[in-house]
Amino acid sequence: MAKCIVVGGGFAGLSAASLLLENGIDVHLIEASPKIGGRAYSLYNEKFDDEYDNGQHILMGCYYNTISFLKRIGSLDYLDFQKSLNIPFAHRGNKISFLKTTEKHYPFNLLAGLMNYKAITVHERLKIIDFLIDLLFCYEEDLENITVKEWLNEKKQPGNAIKAFWEILVVGALNTKPEKAAASQFAHILKKMFLEGDEASVLVLPNASLNKIFVETSLKYILGKGGSYYVSEKLNEILFDDKNRAATILTDKNSYSDFDFVIVAVPFYSLLKIKPFDEMFKNYKAVFSYSPILNVHLWLKENNFSQKFYGLIDSKIHWLFNHKKHITLVTSAADNLIDLPNEKILGMFYSELESYFNLFQRENVVDWKIIKEKRATFIPNNNFCSVRKKIDSPFSNLFFAGDWTDTGLPSTIESAVYSGHLAAEKIISKLVTA
Ligand SMILES: Cc1cc2nc3c(=O)[nH]c(=O)nc-3n(C[C@H](O)[C@H](O)[C@H](O)COP(=O)(O)OP(=O)(O)OC[C@H]3O[C@@H](n4cnc5c(N)ncnc54)[C@H](O)[C@@H]3O)c2cc1C
Repeated sequence: MAKCIVVGGGFAGLSAASLLLENGIDVHLIEASPKIGGRAYSLYNEKFDDEYDNGQHILMGCYYNTISFLKRIGSLDYLDFQKSLNIPFAHRGNKISFLKTTEKHYPFNLLAGLMNYKAITVHERLKIIDFLIDLLFCYEEDLENITVKEWLNEKKQPGNAIKAFWEILVVGALNTKPEKAAASQFAHILKKMFLEGDEASVLVLPNASLNKIFVETSLKYILGKGGSYYVSEKLNEILFDDKNRAATILTDKNSYSDFDFVIVAVPFYSLLKIKPFDEMFKNYKAVFSYSPILNVHLWLKENNFSQKFYGLIDSKIHWLFNHKKHITLVTSAADNLIDLPNEKILGMFYSELESYFNLFQRENVVDWKIIKEKRATFIPNNNFCSVRKKIDSPFSNLFFAGDWTDTGLPSTIESAVYSGHLAAEKIISKLVTA
């Protein structure tokens, strides 16, 4: 039986491990931190017996790889799929506008949904529809070197359409402001979301913690299929033989040579701490930059929010997610907030909530936690997008995985899982042709 060592226990490593095991390949997974999950993990609030995530994670209908991974490990029931796109947007002054499509008649239902989106004028809605029709005939290669902001200006999108529609979409999907994000990357995901059929554009919301959705279930799957894993074990170096094959793996605890393949599924900043990748890839370091996400979790005495989630138009808070015992407030691309003291952030967020929702009162908050993820995602700018394609493994039995690898997708769960699947498929096809 062939054996693969998988390094890294995030979405990329776990999806690779499960696909290999499903195909009869033995797996041993090594994770440096004491917990599995990588950048997507859960914590526990003892006072309220409540699990909460480091950051709210949402998926979309077009997360095809993620959906097949979660199906494989038996956790699809932890996801709620919208029947059709439906987003309640809150305005200052206690007003809600819905971006809502009907369930049938794609793509006209999308256009009708946009035409009913009252946060912008009819003229602004028509300009957005114009843009989306142009997208049908747009080649991503033609957008290389321009930013999303430049693209929107080129397409004469009005200021309010940018603020109340495009900016929310860009910052939500890329965790990057329009002035930094590559237009080609945005075009790629717009096509995935809106041009691949009705189901692609719906939001998929977890109804359980990340720990339940993919950590516990992946580990059960790995052990159930005869695989194994160690936590708190860090890969330091890989030694290669004279045929350029990975031959020995050196961690801070063990040395391994009883394997046929290796998948290194760590973030790029971690790859640069492993020999010999530190030297091999040091020239690429300059193109990687990272963007923070801020999550504020509030436990409420009484929760009167009626929707499962809200987008907030033109606010420091981008999204509010309602988890019943607690609500989670999310700010993406949070460069301006991430270094502020927690009490200051809390005060600002309370004032924002009070000006958006009459039903929110700060006296109702009984506990809070603030989680600052400084390197939440990489920034998909034009430099990064052009260099990403060149980073590959020159070794015949070693493959890289991780959201940053050449998947064409932004820094998301889907990119991580797709990369894990791609790496595993390369190994499976090598064994089939051997
Ligand atoms: C707050 C927040 C909110 C987010 N929201 C969303 C969202 O709504 N939707 C979405 O799609 N995506 C979201 N993301 C992005 C998503 O979480 C990541 O893209 C995804 O988790 C990356 O998975 P990965 O496996 O590529 O990397 P990681 O999750 O970083 O996993 C890599 C693992 O490798 C381990 N490792 C590193 N070095 C070594 C070593 N030397 N030896 C052994 N192990 C090592 C790390 O400890 C880590 O566990 C969010 C991210 C954050 C932080």
